[in-house]
Amino acid sequence: MAPVLTSTIGFPRIGPNREMKKALEAYWAGSSSKEELAAASAAVEARAWRDQAAAGIDLIGLDGTLYDQVLDATFQLGLIPERFQGLGLSGVDLYFALARGVEGAPACDMSKLFDTNYHFLAPELTADSEPRPDWSPLLDRLKRGQEAVGRERAVPMVVGPVTLACLARGDFDRSAMVARLAPAYAALLRQLVQRGVPEVQIHEPALTLTGSEALGVALSVCYAELAATGGVPINVVVMFDDVPEETYKWLVQLPVAAISLDFLGVPGADYGSRTAQLIAQHGFPKNKRLGAGVIDGRGIWADKDGAALRLLGALRDRLGADQPISVQTSTSLQHVPYDLTAEPAGSLPQAPPRPLAFAVQKLAEVVSAAQALAASTPGDIPALDLASFTGAPAAKAAQLDAGMFSRPEPYEQRRPKQVQYPALPTTTIGSFPQTPAIRRSRLAFKRGRISREEYREQMAAQIGVCIGAQEALGLDVLVHGEPERSDMVEYFGLKLDGCYFTEHGWVQSYGSRYVRPPVIVGDISRPEPMTVHEYALAQGLTSKPVKGMLTGPVTILQWSFPRRDVTRQEQAFQLALALRQEVADLAAAGCRVLQVDEPALREGLPLKKDRHAPYLGWAVDAFRLTTAVAAPEVQIVTHLCYSDFNDILGAISAMDADVLTIENSRSDDVMLLALAGAGYPRDVGPGVYDVHSPVVPPVEVMAAKIRSFLKSGLLGGDAARIHVNPDCGLKTRKWEEVLPSLRNMVKAAALVRAEL
Ligand code: GLN
Ligand code: ZN
Repeated sequence: MAPVLTSTIGFPRIGPNREMKKALEAYWAGSSSKEELAAASAAVEARAWRDQAAAGIDLIGLDGTLYDQVLDATFQLGLIPERFQGLGLSGVDLYFALARGVEGAPACDMSKLFDTNYHFLAPELTADSEPRPDWSPLLDRLKRGQEAVGRERAVPMVVGPVTLACLARGDFDRSAMVARLAPAYAALLRQLVQRGVPEVQIHEPALTLTGSEALGVALSVCYAELAATGGVPINVVVMFDDVPEETYKWLVQLPVAAISLDFLGVPGADYGSRTAQLIAQHGFPKNKRLGAGVIDGRGIWADKDGAALRLLGALRDRLGADQPISVQTSTSLQHVPYDLTAEPAGSLPQAPPRPLAFAVQKLAEVVSAAQALAASTPGDIPALDLASFTGAPAAKAAQLDAGMFSRPEPYEQRRPKQVQYPALPTTTIGSFPQTPAIRRSRLAFKRGRISREEYREQMAAQIGVCIGAQEALGLDVLVHGEPERSDMVEYFGLKLDGCYFTEHGWVQSYGSRYVRPPVIVGDISRPEPMTVHEYALAQGLTSKPVKGMLTGPVTILQWSFPRRDVTRQEQAFQLALALRQEVADLAAAGCRVLQVDEPALREGLPLKKDRHAPYLGWAVDAFRLTTAVAAPEVQIVTHLCYSDFNDILGAISAMDADVLTIENSRSDDVMLLALAGAGYPRDVGPGVYDVHSPVVPPVEVMAAKIRSFLKSGLLGGDAARIHVNPDCGLKTRKWEEVLPSLRNMVKAAALVRAEL
């Protein structure tokens, strides 16, 4: 029987106590040196590698980065965008310039990595980008890795040429780009030969995408070139989903030593992963090691009832006991928190659907599954049918009455019954500055230094300030300002039953920014109203309409760790039913305009195109289930931002919101024009200024924007149905920026109104 190995394909890079964040921030603030930063980073990496060695992992992927692994590849390939050249920057300074921007050279764009909540920095390439590789950071890391865990176990990893070409911005032929990049990767492989590595991991998650089939020839040629460098076995690592069937057929023929596959896919997805089925049907070559990603790398659930072992047993039955195999996680563990044992005793959820496991715990699962497989003989392990295994939850969403998904009257009928505005009504997206005073109040309350009543009073005072400011500015539709919300998902998660919050469950969102996603541990329910108090308080202070403000079900789900035992759809519907009660309560409290934010709607889109429609179907249904309870007189607003929404216009329309507010400044009116082109029929509030910039937008600039909206063809230029608002919430801004910006916005609207 072939030995059963264990391997890792990525691990948290932030340190068990967020050491990297502290090190980066100190360096950026000028309070530590380059050498101190390098030392801190080396210590964090070595700790992670030693943790993996201590757990008994045979082949340790040497994960580690100062900011982002895609940027690492771009940088080491020497693919520096032109605007950063000639600035006299090099080394770490140039690297951070790409990540964070410098005077005159804005940072590279950030984008979500496939369907994860991790943001990478997008490479910018052109048809004639010329790599000038310098792999020394990777080689230095390898040297440190070899010292930490020994040569036999230290495996360098790099984002591969196909994935880099697919993730890059720019107008160029992807296949041709793969060919251009190949020699630079070959150069790396040649340098690795002398260094005695057991293999190199080349990460190619882009192979999961619909369309990867078309890159087959480019990939084969490229990997033939890499293999021809001789001496270093290549492990092609695929994660986040299965690969399309056609891609699988040529993937297994690549001249590489190992192929790592994801057998679990997206937690809670009803489609699961077809990897097991592909193997059942097409087999897997005996001359390559199968990297079996059978422990969930992106969820926080423990492997229950030895499911991983059963899958491994079935793989052995299908492929034979002589099949070289390594047990792995399905994805990099960078997507889960470091160590569950850091959570305070007694704080863990009472009756979770299954135990929790973070990165360190998952290492132990990998090792114990491998040991159990090695110790077993066929027949010991309960059978599992490979041909039908998907890892998807068996439970289907409960049937709800179809009437619950539709407003009682269509838009044309209900719109005249809703609040009437002047032409070009002005509003904001919800949050106002989260000031140091607000944060101090929240901390004082959390630490028990002030009582709940005192905290509530302080928040009420903030709401008063927000309403007063908006009245003075002359806005038409007001908001309470969200001072009580530290975060738009956490706020609701804390108030809903079925969500668990960790103390130390940090996951890297990007660079030095980490998040602590809520964990959905049970059926969701709403024990009591969550926002009615603040709404009523605000509405009591003004005769102008105040918007009720909720985070939508898909966004809450998308920014949490979902369950794996029931589908995402079921979880979204449970959230929707809870939020639906809130909508009803807000309406009963007199709320006439109610905003349900769904900025993450598009993020949940599956990687395969043929799965888009079912996802969008239930995602839209969840929004409708939340909002359809509102009487025709209640105006339902939604807000979407920072995603390319123009390819899901049909779904956006199906949400049936009365008003769609949408981020617009960064995307150069793309979305606006798409809406106009599609004949989108309901009120739209395209953002008139970018909230990420501290610059106060001049009246004329915004007036010109508004005029361009009216001329864009959107809603036939009907000014009564084009709303004027910023791109997104204002919570990260300062009052001294917000006040003049909104004053100018209101003036701009008035200016254009007068021209009508
Ligand atoms: N209502 C939220 C706010 O204004 C919306 C934030 C978002 O879209 N990300 O902060
Ligand atoms: Zn937004």
